[in-house]
Parts: sequence; structure tokens; C-alpha cells
Amino acid sequence: MFREQRPGKITPAPAPHVPTVVELPHGKLNAYENAKKQVSKIAGILKLTENETKLLVTPRRIITINFPVKLDSGRIKLFQGYRVQHNDSRGPFKGGIRFHPQVDLDEVKALAFWMSMKCAVAGIPYGGGKGGVIVDPKQLSKDELEALSRGYIREIAPFIGPDKDVPAPDVYTDSQIMSWMLDEYETIVNHHAPGVITGKPLDLGGSKVRDYATAMGGAICLRELMKALKLKPGKVAIQGFGNAGSFMAKILHSWKHKIVAVSDSKGGIVNERGLDPAEVLQHKERTGSVVGFRGARKVSNEDVLALPVDVLVPAALENQITHTVAHTVNAKIVVELANGPTTPDADEILRRRGIHLIPDILANSGGVSTSYFEWAQNLQGYYWTEADVLGKLDPLMVSAFNDVFNASKQHRVDMRTGAFVVAAQKILKAERLRGRLKQ
Ligand code: GLU
Repeated sequence: MFREQRPGKITPAPAPHVPTVVELPHGKLNAYENAKKQVSKIAGILKLTENETKLLVTPRRIITINFPVKLDSGRIKLFQGYRVQHNDSRGPFKGGIRFHPQVDLDEVKALAFWMSMKCAVAGIPYGGGKGGVIVDPKQLSKDELEALSRGYIREIAPFIGPDKDVPAPDVYTDSQIMSWMLDEYETIVNHHAPGVITGKPLDLGGSKVRDYATAMGGAICLRELMKALKLKPGKVAIQGFGNAGSFMAKILHSWKHKIVAVSDSKGGIVNERGLDPAEVLQHKERTGSVVGFRGARKVSNEDVLALPVDVLVPAALENQITHTVAHTVNAKIVVELANGPTTPDADEILRRRGIHLIPDILANSGGVSTSYFEWAQNLQGYYWTEADVLGKLDPLMVSAFNDVFNASKQHRVDMRTGAFVVAAQKILKAERLRGRLKQ
């Protein structure tokens, strides 16, 4: 039973409309407009009906919440948050929760859509969802962050559960935040339910490998593409040095690639002779940024995207490779560890320039796939070794990669379009079987 509380406000899902404006007045690009453009592209290829197209882009449920958090000063502040439940035809809604000052509803809608697509590409039994709170977590104390995390879960508790909607970490949320959220949910329902949330610490039912799974999945895709293109390990630049980016640097370094540049929100560093990712991470932990690392020259975040490398890994936020930036990209392969880092215009430019791109819904699907392994372990109450998890993740990623690679060859399209084709076919099939669409 849920304890009594104010239910979240459910706003009806808006009807899709033809994308027109992509750039917002403050210069931020609208990720949901980009997502809709991506769907209209595959609608043409798969000859989708209006209903099918509408179903693919429109979230099933949008929850908007405004909830109070008591700050250390004693003041009570209202925070706005969202949980967008995009599609659940293939299984419970699944996707992370983002804490960021620039979170907005359209962004969360796009991210929820990408989660549905990602889970379908990976072939795991989930739909897609995403959550977000408009907050700069760096401005909060630990107690305030805990109160915010618990407050958010109290509001969305009626709508989540191991067989309903399973949240996870995303930008600026981590395993400690998942622990508070799990505890709050279990207090509300009055029983243990570790499968309600993934990305937990090992001591609370987390899975081995989950911490580096997003990067590992991307690295496996890169390995497969390089095999297909007969390329050897080379120079790598990584934008973003959070969970995904820093582990990607470590994995690729250990696989004999040379990490020549990394960056974070404060700027980038370059050393053509190669950086040691473990040392850069220590420096970041000590000083708060990769900038200032000894022996490396400082560059801007945009400069990192234009360096002459073999592999470029955007591992930060959306809309980093824009139309203008795409002309300056100087890499053979782009591996999208971030969600939505490339705009549709930029996609087209990269494709024309012959740059191979492993799209986000494939490249970063190792994260949610290992969340699936975590959830499966929680439901069984039986925990696997690191070798067990890696032994399942590797073939899962290889098979997802092959499906996408083959679809892109078959339809003579780039890998992003190939990935959307694979995902859309699976989701629409599930919708038809459920009778939500005409057979
Ligand atoms: N936030 C991650 C993503 O965007 C992980 C989601 C999950 O594990 O549910 O894929």
C-alpha cells in the first residue's frame, strides 16, 4: 500500500506536430524536435501509417511534479520534476533520472523516446521512460540532495515499480542517489523491492559491471565496427569525463588505443603522446576538473570535437555536434556514448563526409542492458559474478551491433537510421500483438 500523498499531475500526451522550430530563443536546440525528425525519416523508409508514426513519437504518460524540499537553512524550496513514460509495449518503462539545471520537458520526452528505441535495439524486455529534476545538484549539500531524491520518489512512487517503471541513474545522479530512492520507495510500499530501480551499489542489490557498462557496451560496438572496417586501434578524443567518458577512456586505453584528449564542463586537455586515464581521473577527483593536468595543453570543449583522431566519443550532453561543428569533425568514427549528441543536420553532414557513426541508441545501450541484468538478478535473488555479466553483455552487444549494421546495409542508410528501423519494427510488432494497432 502506498502511504497517503499528493499524486503527481498527469498531463495528457500532446499530439505530435510537424517539426518546424529546432532552435530555442536562448540558443538551446530542442531534442524532442530532433527525435521527431528521426521518426519522420524512418516513417518514409518503413512506409508507416499516421497512427504508427504518432505512436512512436508520443509518450504514453507525462507526469509533472512540483515538490517541496527543506534546505539546510530551514527554507523550503519547490522543485519541478518530470517522469515521462514513453512506451511499454515490450515491458516496463525503463530509463534514468537526470538532475540538471537545464532539464526541460521536451528534453525528457526525447530522452524517454530514445530509451524505448534503445531497449528495443538491445533486445531487452523493456519500454522506455525518463525522469528529470530542474536543479543544479552542485549547489546542494549532501543532506539537501538526499531530501530532493526522496521527495522526487515520493511523488512518482504510485507510477513506478519493478513491473511498471524502473528508473536508474543518468546525468548527475549516481548509486548513492539510487540508494536513497530505493529506501524511500521501500518505506512507502513497506517491503523490499530492489528491482524498482537499477544502478544501485553492490551492497544494495546492484550488479557487477553496471558502473562501467555504458562504456563497455560502446567499446564493444567500436571493436566490432573496427573489425568490419579492418581498422587498428588508434587515436581517441573523448568529450565528457563523467561515468561514461572516464570508463571509456580506461577501457580503450587498455585495448591499446591512444587517448589524446578528454574534456569536462570546464574545458579540454590534449596530449598527442597520449594521456593516462587513471591519472587524469585522480587529477579530476583532486581538483574538480581534468583541466590543469600536467603535460597537457588546455583547449576548449569544441576544440576537442575537431581534433584529428581516429575515434571521437561524445560522452556529455545533447546537441554537441551541430551543423557547424559537423564540418570540423576530423575523425573516422564517432561513438555516441551521450544521448542525442548529434543534431539531424549534423548527422547528414557526417554521413556525406564518409564518417562512420555508431548511434547513441546502440552505442550506449550497454548501460541499460546491464540494468536489465541487475533487475533480473534482483527478481531471482541470485547474484552473478563479473565474468557472468561480461559473458552476457558481450554477445548481447555484438548481436545488437550486427542487427543495426545489417539493417543499415539492407536499407542503404546510415547506422542511426538502421537502428531506428530495427527498434521501430520491434515496438510496432509488440503494439500489434497487443491489439493497440491494427494487424
Ligand atoms: N541513463 C542511462 C541511459 O540513458 C541508463 C538507463 C537505465 O539503466 O535504465 O541509457
